[in-house]
Amino acid sequence: MNESKLDNHIYRYVCEVCGKVEYLSPKEAYEKGWDYPPFIGEYGIVSPRTCPYCDMMDTAWAALVLHGKNVRELSDKQKEAIIRIINEPGSIEVIN
Ligand SMILES: [Zn+2]
Repeated sequence: MNESKLDNHIYRYVCEVCGKVEYLSPKEAYEKGWDYPPFIGEYGIVSPRTCPYCDMMDTAWAALVLHGKNVRELSDKQKEAIIRIINEPGSIEVIN
């Protein structure tokens, strides 16, 4: 098992679609249904970052990859998501 999956630190999970925030360990987040690394995707690589209830079709990743938009065409919220993603895991770390 990838060592980062055993990480018990608490991270700040932000849904890029609805804005929901939860403070969880990576395993707790995965079990609740969050789409976040290290279980889904990789830190620093743009892919959906969603809560258990939101659709990946509304993410920055979908806009870029599925809808062929460029970064300038994204909403401010989507741009923020990209900045947060490329700065992971530091951007979601909580001081434990
Ligand atoms: Zn959501």
